Amino acid sequence: MESIYGITKEKLEQYFTDKGEKKYKATQVFEWLYNFKVSSFDEMTNIKKDVIAYLKQDFYFGYLEIVNKQVGEDTYKYLFKLADNNLVEAVLMHHDYGYSLCVSSQVGCNMTCAFCESGRLKKVRNLNTYEMVLQFMTVERDMNIKISRVVLMGIGEPFDNYDNVIDFINILNDPKAISLGSRHITVSTSGLVPRIKDFINDGKQVNLAISLHAANDKLRSELMPINKVYNLELLISTIKEYINKTNRRVTFEYILLNDINDSKEDANELSMLLKGINCYVNLIPYNETSHIKYKRSSKDKILKFYDVLKKNNIQVTIRREFGKNVSAACGQLRANYKEAK
Ligand code: SAH
Repeated sequence: MESIYGITKEKLEQYFTDKGEKKYKATQVFEWLYNFKVSSFDEMTNIKKDVIAYLKQDFYFGYLEIVNKQVGEDTYKYLFKLADNNLVEAVLMHHDYGYSLCVSSQVGCNMTCAFCESGRLKKVRNLNTYEMVLQFMTVERDMNIKISRVVLMGIGEPFDNYDNVIDFINILNDPKAISLGSRHITVSTSGLVPRIKDFINDGKQVNLAISLHAANDKLRSELMPINKVYNLELLISTIKEYINKTNRRVTFEYILLNDINDSKEDANELSMLLKGINCYVNLIPYNETSHIKYKRSSKDKILKFYDVLKKNNIQVTIRREFGKNVSAACGQLRANYKEAK
């Protein structure tokens, strides 16, 4: 048995074909799920009783329980309990252009980035596709809104759960399912080079963001152990390959950590590294957490860093801050909840 929310239309078409049914049944089921948002097979009234009967045998709907919801200014942070009692988070942000949802891809994370709360809690398991789809569906239903963007920047390393994440992207993207345009979906990775290569070959048109956070191997390996496996030279050459093949611009995320990676020299080194690459840099004010020693850079330092990049002709933005007062940094709500218990 699997959840009906975890299955792509192509797979459901195959399922019906194997049963000797016409493929379009898959489209009908998708309309009930994602357009009419029914919560049982019995509500799918244009589908024959015998088909409903075997759908019920092979699939369940699935459900995420909202165990905590924190409301901040323009930010709603959800803590979900999964069927096996594991917890994951999703964060809804209200921008002027609409709502965007930050989705988790794993329970915990194995990347052990030094500054990140999620990595303190080791990976327990990958999320199934339906658990990502249901983060989206549950928040839309709870808020009675339409979400127009999804970023895979919650707990977990999406490319360490590659196949399920790609299926999730397919369901987000499918005009008969959630129907978000590719440009409205962003997947963020700490830099798993082989999976970035797979991603190039898959030809997905969604946005790619790379968590960079340092412009030299020594510092990056301290902050992000994954750099010891796939160093900057490998990572950057793979990104160039991605840009060549897709013609798409890449985002580099760069958290500013006080006195660690935020000097003028760091900004110049970063500019050199990214020179000539079709990209932009998203500077992220660090969300401090009580368990981790790093501090946020001052506003003044952030602006100086920004100015150096600008002067060096690197496209750069400073991330607007969301959710400071709702522990919206990656993994914080889950960590706080678990520790309070
Ligand atoms: N594992 C993926 C996606 C999840 S993290 C990745 O590494 O890209 C999403 C982003 O939030 C990453 O850039 C991550 O480095 C950053 N991040 C983690 N902890 C943070 C914190 N306390 N404050 C600000 N950004 C943080």
